[in-house]
Amino acid sequence: MKAQPTASHFINGRYVEDKAGAEMPVYYPATGEVIAVVHEATPAIIDQALSSAKAAQAQWAAMSGTERGRILRRAADIMRARNHDLSVLETLDTGKPYQETSVVDATSGADALEYFGGLAGSLTGQHIRLPDGNWAYTIREALGVCVGIGAWNYPTQIACWKGAPALACGNAMVFKPSETTPLCALKVAEILHEAGLPAGLYNVIQGRGGVGAPLVADARVNKVSLTGSVPTGRKVYAAAADGMKHVTMELGGKSPLIIFDDADLESAVSGAILGNFYSSGQVCSNGTRVFVQKGIKQAFLARLSERLQNALIGDPMDPATNFGPMVSEGQLQIVLNYIAKGQDEGARLVCGGQRLDKPGYWITPAVFADVTDSMAIAREEIFGPVMSVLDFDTEAEALARANDTEFGLAAGVFTNDLQRAHRVAEGFEAGTCYINTYNDAPVEVPFGGSKMSGVGRENSAAAIEHYSQLKSVFVRMGALEAPF
Ligand code: NDP
Repeated sequence: MKAQPTASHFINGRYVEDKAGAEMPVYYPATGEVIAVVHEATPAIIDQALSSAKAAQAQWAAMSGTERGRILRRAADIMRARNHDLSVLETLDTGKPYQETSVVDATSGADALEYFGGLAGSLTGQHIRLPDGNWAYTIREALGVCVGIGAWNYPTQIACWKGAPALACGNAMVFKPSETTPLCALKVAEILHEAGLPAGLYNVIQGRGGVGAPLVADARVNKVSLTGSVPTGRKVYAAAADGMKHVTMELGGKSPLIIFDDADLESAVSGAILGNFYSSGQVCSNGTRVFVQKGIKQAFLARLSERLQNALIGDPMDPATNFGPMVSEGQLQIVLNYIAKGQDEGARLVCGGQRLDKPGYWITPAVFADVTDSMAIAREEIFGPVMSVLDFDTEAEALARANDTEFGLAAGVFTNDLQRAHRVAEGFEAGTCYINTYNDAPVEVPFGGSKMSGVGRENSAAAIEHYSQLKSVFVRMGALEAPF
């Protein structure tokens, strides 16, 4: 299987190659075979991308929002029309099953382009009346050149979730995908330009962290939006602070999911499955600490084990497959280490956690029971299909333990007690909370974390605040006096 792109980078409206950059092989996670080779951006490529973005941005910002939006909405239509091909590419890049990619990745990318395309024409300032007939107004301005840096789990979606609001507000973007999944963002760039985006406004360059760092530090850059881990977030935030740049940080989590005795058992099990095993557990907002009230624990574990028998692990391109491989050998090793650590620490492995004896990066979905709060598997983000089940007695206890973490990305509660559901949601220290559901992320609703899980919000009108700034203009209608 091959998925070699036309060239490694997309700059100033066209594909660009520079073989002087180090080779980055792209592996198909289902087989481990090399499906493409791209080259890391050299300093010359980084400079080309930034200067073309800088040169194109002012004219783009001067267009009407309606015109900008029309281009984004056209790109959304093209993405939807090509959903099959884009989903196959997403599956090759990440290993996620086609059953998922065909309904989540290009489609949510298209949603973002359509949504922010629709908002672009309505971005306005305010008129503010002042005493004595004077007044002020605000202008909502683009920030300038934005850098987007992506994680490997949702390469198409991340490229669109950052690109769409940035472009809607009149910015230019330079996007660096994860080195593990470099292919999909190139297609996003291609489609945007096919839809009429002027050259230079959405550039994609490849590279490891060594390419991300100079992008963040460059004086031409006004904003940095990162999706990645907390350690990377710390570095990128600090580097951006040096230049007083705007930031959005979408970072990791170790989110709690609290299941009360009175919950609907089937829905609670569905929530735990969705919140732990979708995309083979490689989802930032996953509810990996599943607190189950003691009265329902045995029934929950029994039903969960039964339902896990329905996980179809196999060829990701087969539409029936619903559980794919890990993205890389490295990520698989991280997960295997945590499974060994969980067993060493005394947690009970109920099922799964075995590497499959075949090429590629395969592991069966793992469930640990009798997990305690201090175990590494309950404290650290694993980013793989490992569910930790913890017992609890009371609501107050569950909430306190749920919040006892440095992370604050997401949290969920399953209960049929209406007041308790809202009380617990109010008590969660997390940016995105779920009641009797898990991991929904439609474009209309803000998404992001609190505490160490991040700064800023993606999606919804809230994202506009993070890709634009306000200028205040004071107007005096009469003569102006001064003390001397
Ligand atoms: P990493 O933090 O390892 O990398 C994220 C991106 O940052 C990659 O493109 C990486 O490049 C780049 N990078 C690394 N170091 C630097 C640096 N010093 N300066 C600039 N860029 C740098 O995360 P992963 O790719 O492993 O993704 C998994 C993480 O992402 C998890 O923690 C997960 O929770 C989080 N995530 C958060 C989401 C959210 O919305 N909150 C959504 C999805 C994932 P390279 O890959 O080439 O090293």
